This record gives sequence, structure tokens and C-alpha cells, in this order.
Amino acid sequence: MEEAVSRNFIEQIIEEDIKEGHCKAVRTRFPPEPNGYLHIGHAKSILLNYGLAEKYNGKFNMRFDDTNPTKERVEFVESIKEDIRWLGADWEDRLFFASDYFGQMYEAAVKLIRKGKAYVSDLDAEQIREYRGTLTEPGKEDPNCKRSVEENLQLFEDMKNGKYEDGALVLRARIDMASPNINMRDPILYRVAHMEHHNTGDAWCIYPMYDFAHPIEDAIEGITHSICTLEFEDHRPLYDWVVREVGYERPPKQIEFAKLYLTNVVTGKRYIKKLVEDGIVDGWDDPRLVSIAALRRRGFTPESIQRFVELCGVSKANSSVDYAMLEYCIREDLKLKRPRMMAVLDPIKLVIDNYPEGEVEYLEAANNLENEGLGTRKIPFCRELYIEREDFMEEPPKKYFRLFPGNEVRLMHAYFVKCESFVKDGNGKVVEVHVTYDPETKAGSGFTGRKVKGTIHWVPAPFAEECEVRLYENLVDEEKGVYNKEDGSLNLNPNSLTVLKGCVAEPALAEAKAYDSYQFVRQGFFCADAKDSGPGRLVFNRIVSLKSSYKLPT
Ligand code: ATP
Ligand code: MG
Repeated sequence: MEEAVSRNFIEQIIEEDIKEGHCKAVRTRFPPEPNGYLHIGHAKSILLNYGLAEKYNGKFNMRFDDTNPTKERVEFVESIKEDIRWLGADWEDRLFFASDYFGQMYEAAVKLIRKGKAYVSDLDAEQIREYRGTLTEPGKEDPNCKRSVEENLQLFEDMKNGKYEDGALVLRARIDMASPNINMRDPILYRVAHMEHHNTGDAWCIYPMYDFAHPIEDAIEGITHSICTLEFEDHRPLYDWVVREVGYERPPKQIEFAKLYLTNVVTGKRYIKKLVEDGIVDGWDDPRLVSIAALRRRGFTPESIQRFVELCGVSKANSSVDYAMLEYCIREDLKLKRPRMMAVLDPIKLVIDNYPEGEVEYLEAANNLENEGLGTRKIPFCRELYIEREDFMEEPPKKYFRLFPGNEVRLMHAYFVKCESFVKDGNGKVVEVHVTYDPETKAGSGFTGRKVKGTIHWVPAPFAEECEVRLYENLVDEEKGVYNKEDGSLNLNPNSLTVLKGCVAEPALAEAKAYDSYQFVRQGFFCADAKDSGPGRLVFNRIVSLKSSYKLPT
């Protein structure tokens, strides 16, 4: 039988290039600008580029596109490296900085001037915009475009040597002011900017523009397939022009794919930055965000994100993916991998009246019934336990199978207990439930005498680990949509964070270290918070609840 192999359109292009002999060894790169933290959309680009290099036995480069010193910071360089490593994309020793190529970019510009393909212009920003024309009108020639090669060389050198103020002169490519593609109307290649750069310091006072720098960076590194997002499609003719005119023998090929968007989720770097700056979230790694650092802190795993990106596929059409798909991926990933523990988020006391006071027995419990490899643990069992407040009702509705006066339930991993009475405080709030247990019904004893319909979880009161639990909802109001139609601000959901104090967990959870995750039975998957949890103060983030009506798209 023939194996069903489906390739995305980028793989098809690469395979064609290999077959035709245009490409000997695939080389891809991820080129972030170090001006913010990476988010789930970047994860898609990283894993796509890394995955293609892996698949075709090629190489993957990590390159910081740090050609614009205004917005870039070293803090971001470090966070980006950490995030990419965590995702599992390994650049080995191929870590590059575009700013290391400033010398070569300058030489490339000089070469273009010599060929009559670039000129220095003294039009200011306003005039350049005016001369550029519009989508329906062609542009006008820049009066500077006839300048001699010698004069251009001298002016460009003077620009480099600091003779001019910011904005006084620019270097422009000589292409075609009448081109239907505005990007080709003598685009700016270099500008004067007297600015300190995080890598090159004050060595340069002219900086290359993205559209000139990027193809050169790719060409220098021998990138074969330069993969970017759709908004650069109209820039491709310029990309091709640069590598051709500068004269690279094996020019890289630019291929565009659609950005990843999540429905009702804030992904834009600009918006995330504002939420951080306005103090609406607790930093770039607030677990409600979808920056990679935030997803990691929330408890997502690299495997879950890899799977998610795989399920999203690669396409040329913009679309938006349901956040529930990301939740599906983490649930699937953790289901068998993580122990299933008991924690009570809203505790009330359960007293077993016929259990001897002061006695403790240690019950053996499987860590994950579906994965024996995770072993077992011993849970102390005694007269006083905690159960969830909602697992008891004085007057139960129909089909309520948990505790109510006269009803019997199973305590998970333990015994059947029957509700005998309960105690209320002065406000009529139930504070204690009293039960009797049947020693015959111990879990694992093979008891078959009778059945009960409900099973509830519990935590032994004297051994309970107190903890804080944080529950999350969408950061934005799904009803209203992400962005306010009037002013473009975000429609925030006031209930995006719920902090539960005084939760209790079984004693094994005292060991939880940053990023450790667990299933809390009946409650969902939780992760020890990397910022706030530690010895003596346990804090868990809910990654995702257990159930969802979500179905994978077919
Ligand atoms: P943002 O739009 O969030 O500000 P950016 O595109 O400005 O991000 P860069 O650092 O320039 O951020 O991006 C690095 C790479 O990541 C680029 O190749 C870019 O195309 C890709 N990328 C950015 N956002 C997405 C996304 N939502 N989906 C897929 N790839 C993305
Ligand atoms: Mg960008």
C-alpha cells in the first residue's frame, strides 16, 4: 500500500528545488527583532524553520535582526534565546547578529552606488512620501537621482563619517518610480541615525533599512529558503532585486506563509507590551498571555506547542485558530505524563465518626491509572479530611450523587462513607460534615457487596498542604471581541484571574518545584508557579480544566 504523505506548500517548493539541483543543503533561519518577548505566533515560525532544516537534513540558524537600535534591548535577546531553546529548536553554534554584517552591508551599498543602482538624496521624509505617489498614481523622479557616482560615493562616505545630522541624507535604490509596486519606487536603503547600538556601540551612525539588510543577512549566511509572513509578499521583488544587484551567486528564495492568529487572544507584540506597561498583567510572562514565557509559566510544555503548531498547518490564507485547540494539545500531552493528585480548592471538614481518633493508615494509590510507569504513592488517611464544599448538599437536586444526608459515596483510593449529619455555623453555612465509614469497602480489597454512584476526592486534614490556586479566564471579553471598535483599545475581561487562597493539597505536593505540573483530579491540570511558588508557599496555576466540548477540526 502506498504511504499517504502530504506536504505543505513550502515543503513542495523545497523538494522541487532539491530535485532541480537549485539547493544542495537546506538552510533556514529564525530572525527575530530583539524588541519584545516571543509569542505563540513566533513559535510557529521557529518550529516551521527548525522543522524544515531537520526534515531535509539541513541547518537552522538563529539570527537576531538587530538593525534598528531604537527599540532593541539586551533583555530581549536573552529571553528570546531561552524561549527558542525551551521550544526545542537547536541552532547549535549558529547564533548570528545582523549587526555583525554592518561592514558587509556598507560594502554592498557602495557596490550598488558604483553600478549606478543607488544614490544619495537630500529629500526629507515628507518630500519622499510626496514624491512616492500612491497606489493609483506613479511616483515622481527624485531630483537627486542623476547625481554622479563619484559624488554619491563621497556623500555616502560622509554620511558614514558623521558629517550629517539625523535625517539630513538618505541612500536610495535606483529602481523605478513608476513601478506599480510602491516598494520598488526607489526605496531607502540607509538612513543617518546617531544612536548607540546594543552590539556595535557608536561604531556606526548610519543604519540599513530592513528591506535592504534582510536579504543580505540571508545571503551572507547561505540561507536557501527565507521564510517570512504574508505581509512581506509585496516586498519580495525588492528582496530579489537586492540579492541580484549585489551579486550573490546563490541567492536565497523568500517564501511567505500566513501568520498564526488565535481567536479572542491578544498576540500582537504592541498590545502585549501595553498590557505589561499599564500593569494590567504581571509582566511578559503573566500566565494569561500567550507569550512563550507566559505559556511556559502557565504550565504548557514544548511538546504541546509543537503538536499545536503541527495541527495548525502551514498555509497562504490568513485565518484564526481556536484557543481551545491549544488547550486540547496540552490536555492530551499531560494526560498520561503527569500524576493525578488530590487537591481541594474550596475545603470543608469531613469527620469520620467511627474512625479511631489519632489513628493514621497509609493507602496505596496509583499515580496515574492509565500509566503504570508513574508508580504509586502512599496517602495518609485518618479521621478528619477535607472535601470540596460542592461535594456536599443539604438538599440535593435530582441526579446529585455526592454527599447528602443518608447517602453513601466512595472516597477516592479509600473507603465508602455514609453521611450521618452536618454542622452549621451561626450564619447557616455548613462547616462540617459527619460520616461513618465501612472498613469492608477499602479500595483494592475487591469488595463487591454494593455499589455507590459518586466518588469524591479528599485531603487528610492534619497532613494537608495549604496552597494558593489561580484560575484563569480569557484576558479579553469574548462577547465584545478583542478590540474596542471605537478607540482600538482592548476589551478586557474583569474576571480573567481568580485567586483562591486556603486551598489544600495532599502532602506529596509539598515537593512541587517551579514548572512541575499535575492533574488535580476532577479539577484540571495545574502547574507550580515559577515566580511565586516555593518552599513554604505553594502556588499553582490552572493550565486547563479537564473537559471541553472542543472537537479537533477534520
Ligand atoms: P509582531 O507582529 O507580534 O510585532 P514581528 O513580526 O514584528 O511580531 P519579528 O521579531 O519581526 O516580530 O518576527 C520574527 C519572525 O516571526 C518573522 O519571521 C515573522 O514573520 C514571524 N512571525 C511574527 N508573528 C508571527 C505570527 N503571528 N505567526 C507566524 N509567524 C510570525
Ligand atoms: Mg517584524
